[in-house]
Amino acid sequence: MLRQIRKMHVKAIKMRWLTGGVNYSYLLSTQDKSKSWLIDPAEPLEVLPELSQAEQNSVEAVVNTHHHYDHSGGNLMVAKELERVKQGHVKVICGSKTSPAATDVPQHGQEYKLGDLLVKCIRTPCHTQDSVCYFVRDPHTGERCIFTGDTLFTAGCGRFFEGNGEEMDQALNRRILDGVGEPNWDTTKVFPGHEYTKSNVKFVRQAVYTRPGENAALDKLEHFCSRNDVTTGCFTVRDELEYNPFMRLDDPTVRDAVSDVEGCLSRAEVMNRLRKMKNAA
Ligand SMILES: [Zn+2]
Repeated sequence: MLRQIRKMHVKAIKMRWLTGGVNYSYLLSTQDKSKSWLIDPAEPLEVLPELSQAEQNSVEAVVNTHHHYDHSGGNLMVAKELERVKQGHVKVICGSKTSPAATDVPQHGQEYKLGDLLVKCIRTPCHTQDSVCYFVRDPHTGERCIFTGDTLFTAGCGRFFEGNGEEMDQALNRRILDGVGEPNWDTTKVFPGHEYTKSNVKFVRQAVYTRPGENAALDKLEHFCSRNDVTTGCFTVRDELEYNPFMRLDDPTVRDAVSDVEGCLSRAEVMNRLRKMKNAA
C-alpha cells in the first residue's frame, strides 16, 4: 500500500523579469490546496493569470514582506479581485499600514494558522522598518520554509534603506536564525523576494572567497546558478551560513575582505562595509 505523502506547496510566480526587477510572488498552499497565502503579488496582471480558479478560491490572505511598491503595489487590486472570485473576505497581512489595504499588522513572533501549517512572523527591520519574514512549518511532515522578502537573499541581503549594519546583523543573525531555531536550519528552505543569486555569487567571488576551493559551498552554488535561472527554494538556512558573507561576519576571510586586518571591527561595522562594497560592485 502506498503511504500517503503530505506536502505543503510553494508556487513561485515570476514578476517584472522582463523589466529587470526579477521579483517573485509566492502562492503558499496547504497539502490539500484548500487554503493559501499569496505573498507579494505586486503585479496583478502577471500573477492572477498564473493562478487557477481553485487556487484563487483558496487564498485566505494577501501577505507582504515589506511596503516597497514592487512587493505591495498589487494589494488593492488583487484582494478586490480575489474577494470577487471567492465571494468572501481576503485578509491583507503586512508589516505596517504603509502597505496598501493592510488589514493585519503582526507583532514579532506572532503565529498564524493556515490549515495545518503554522506561520511565525519574524520582524526584521533594516531594509525597511516594516520588513517581516514568514517562517512556515508543517507539524505533520516536518517540512519548513521561510519567505525572506528583501532581507535575506541567497548569498546576499537587502540594502539598508531604513536601517543600519547593526540592524541587519540582528535581522539575519539573531532574528532569522533564532526564529527558525538551530535544529531546523538544515531543513528550512529559503524563498527570497528577488532572483539575485547569480549577481550575489559574482560579488562574493570577486570580493570575499576569490579562489575556487576556498569555500566548497560557494563553489557548489556557483555551479548551480550557472545552470539554473531559478534558484529560489533550492537552498536552506544552513547553506546561507556556509557561503553568505553577511551571515559570516566573524569569518577571517570576510574580515580580510573588508580590510579588518586585526579582526577588531564590530560586527555592525563589518556588515556596513560589506554592504557598501556590494552597493559599489
Ligand atoms: Zn524592497
